[in-house]
Amino acid sequence: MKGFAMLKIGEVGWIEKEKATCGPMDAICRPLAISPCTSDVHTVWEGAVGERHNMILGHEGIAEVVEVGELVKDFKPGDKVIVPAITPDWNSLEAQGGYAMHSHGILQGWKFSNTKDGLFSDFFHVNDADGNLAHLPKGMDLKLAPMLSDMVPTGFHGAELADIQYGDNVLVIGIGPVGLMAVAGANMKGAAHIYAVGTRPKCTEAAKFYGATELINYKEGSISEQALALTKGVGVDKVIIAGGTVDTFSEAIKALRPGGKIGNVNYLGSGDTIEIPRLEWGVGMGHKSINGGLMPGGRLRMERLSRLVSIGKLDLAPLVTHTFEGFDHIEEALYLMKDKPKDLIKPVVLI
Ligand code: NDP
Ligand code: ZN
Repeated sequence: MKGFAMLKIGEVGWIEKEKATCGPMDAICRPLAISPCTSDVHTVWEGAVGERHNMILGHEGIAEVVEVGELVKDFKPGDKVIVPAITPDWNSLEAQGGYAMHSHGILQGWKFSNTKDGLFSDFFHVNDADGNLAHLPKGMDLKLAPMLSDMVPTGFHGAELADIQYGDNVLVIGIGPVGLMAVAGANMKGAAHIYAVGTRPKCTEAAKFYGATELINYKEGSISEQALALTKGVGVDKVIIAGGTVDTFSEAIKALRPGGKIGNVNYLGSGDTIEIPRLEWGVGMGHKSINGGLMPGGRLRMERLSRLVSIGKLDLAPLVTHTFEGFDHIEEALYLMKDKPKDLIKPVVLI
């Protein structure tokens, strides 16, 4: 089978590989629509999780099941499914402890395009099919559905990690597709003011659509100073980080009021340490907490989030700015994600 792969750090290309075999609890699927992710960019061009050789990329998409193992109960060949980016081993102790995304080791629930071949392929393998696949709801737009694999669950997880409560003033740093879904998630959880940080016009327009009340341009001054000015010096109740670098944390701490919480879903591709400003962290006693997390993945989350889309509470249309038809366009779509032209939020390739 053919796939578009990370050949080594900094290099991508088409490769041929053996089709994976299907274990008793697994499924083999063929993609119907796929989308590249900024995480693929960190992995390939920053080498953020280390060297990978000839690993097929991609972890966002919808697919058709072509084969299932003999123990799979709820899926059969021909079923159309949403594939979560994170596919934990649900019988692991970590999953029983509530951290399925770290099943069998930190971040090990993130398999596609990290520790095994991903979706940019003729066929791909899914572990624990009953626990990880979700039936694609009837009538769902095939072009928009791939946003449910990673963008929606990750952005919404940012809102969970920041523990958004009714009436919170929330700062969302980064309004690419992940940050936009963090804005939407914070809005649904009852945030009052949502201060959205970003510059690309397509993104700022979409941020307003999803519930941002004010915009902050990080290129025109410090984020924390602008957030403090907007909150009359009090600081925000919560911060969701979905963009920026290791240096963004000091801005988040400075913008936060005592007792506030930070939820980070940003993938820190480079830098060795995160700086926490001593004074603004209350010299260690400010009750400003930091939570960072990989999105949980799995079937239940996919089904619950897709319900929001099916009933019209979450409109994914603003996220998909570029659509391609044909497998061969995967490379072009990935480079769009790397180069981030001004009019891009997210590309999708229909196969
Ligand atoms: P994008 O690159 O599309 O968006 C990044 C956003 O951050 C943009 O709004 C950008 O602004 C803004 N930004 C860039 N630099 C700064 C800065 N110095 N200070 C403040 N804001 C800044 O990324 P995505 O939305 O696709 O992904 C966001 C992150 O989430 C990535 O790191 C990705 O790898 C990660 N991720 C994490 C997952 C998880 O499970 N935790 C899953 C999926 C993705 P501008 O408008 O100027 O471009
Ligand atoms: Zn992703």
